[in-house]
Amino acid sequence: MTEYPWKVFTKLASKFILCDGCFGRQFSLLAPGIDKWELGHSIKTALFLCALIQHEKNGKRGSFNLLKALAKSGFGPAIAYLRDRCGAVMEVEPCYICGTDIRQALEKTVVSVTERLKTVEVRTFKSGSSLSSSLIRREDEVKRTLKIPWGESIKNFINSYLDHEISKSLKISTDVDEPDVMFIVNPFNGDIKITLFPLYLRGRYRKLMKGISQTRKRGKDPLSSVEGMIASVLVPETGAADLTFHGAGREDVDALMLGNGRPFVIEVREPARRSLDLKALERKINEAFQGKIEILGLKYASKKDIRRVKILGERVNKVYRAVIKLGREISEEELRELQNRVNGLEINQKTPSRVLWRRGDRIRRKKIVSAKLNLVDKNTLSATLVAQGGTYIKEFVSGDSGRTTPSLSELLNTTAECVELEVIDFLGDL
Ligand SMILES: [Zn+2]
Repeated sequence: MTEYPWKVFTKLASKFILCDGCFGRQFSLLAPGIDKWELGHSIKTALFLCALIQHEKNGKRGSFNLLKALAKSGFGPAIAYLRDRCGAVMEVEPCYICGTDIRQALEKTVVSVTERLKTVEVRTFKSGSSLSSSLIRREDEVKRTLKIPWGESIKNFINSYLDHEISKSLKISTDVDEPDVMFIVNPFNGDIKITLFPLYLRGRYRKLMKGISQTRKRGKDPLSSVEGMIASVLVPETGAADLTFHGAGREDVDALMLGNGRPFVIEVREPARRSLDLKALERKINEAFQGKIEILGLKYASKKDIRRVKILGERVNKVYRAVIKLGREISEEELRELQNRVNGLEINQKTPSRVLWRRGDRIRRKKIVSAKLNLVDKNTLSATLVAQGGTYIKEFVSGDSGRTTPSLSELLNTTAECVELEVIDFLGDL
């Protein structure tokens, strides 16, 4: 053994009363494979033997002080030696840094975390610690005083201990990017803060009946929304607190959503169960709300799918079928001319007046990709429109008092009103 670390061992043991764990981790990098308390205990054992030999041989004062310091730190053989050979009863002092025995504190923390996570199903976790500033100050003081270059910080030490032990006790793995659960602990005062992250699912929905909103509205029956219907099955099935529905855009309450359906992502908050039979769930929702909504292709998703589904709603073309009432009669020739003008038409839409109260007023440039128009009678049109995501079709028809331009009303120089509207297809998926 070189003189250098030995001197540091002696100095540390004489200057600061540390528990085995806090002592050992000051030398982590010297022996990365060894348990820190085992390391601390071993170094204390070696120091004890040397001090004991010196004390037996020549009763050196320095070695007596070291024996006392070791005894105060709770090192059993030193306590016994001083009591039996010197008649000195030593009281064990709390560790200067952690104020207790870090091993016991951490073992207790693992038991508590395990206990609290027993009732929920999680597959991955991330751990962290929140320690008092006075503890961090004392840790820094030890580091600064002795300038030990092999130490491992207490935070790092706690986190890697928890990662290892929690993985073992709950048979789950760590995931720093998208864990199912995160807990922040303070092992020295028993604080444990657990955050359960949402479970994400995605799929597509078809809306087969008018009068159903996409999300729940305050003061309205939750079962009159796609979100509420899904929640009524999914929340009890997962034991969750609630869920949030994110659609790829939305259709009006009175518009159907047909074809392959509209993509969505569901954020299930604080779920107790995550392993789900998605096919069976899908069936259950569809049976419960037959004739109202239908869910297709339910799959597991991730947090970033929320952003993706929003972008999808903005970008993807949709196919609409509309029935339009006109303020005057039009001829077949006018109809053909109108159809030519509408095909590929670019329009400017200010936020519709009907949603202005909840959305910011801005102008969107949208495109009517293609249109197929037919006369039902002389002043009624049936239209199949392919429009860019986010186009307000009702306003494209009516003009919304000049807020959308050009509009069908403007092109025909008469009033035009969309009396029926359905989305017959959504041309994209996540
Ligand atoms: Zn300690």
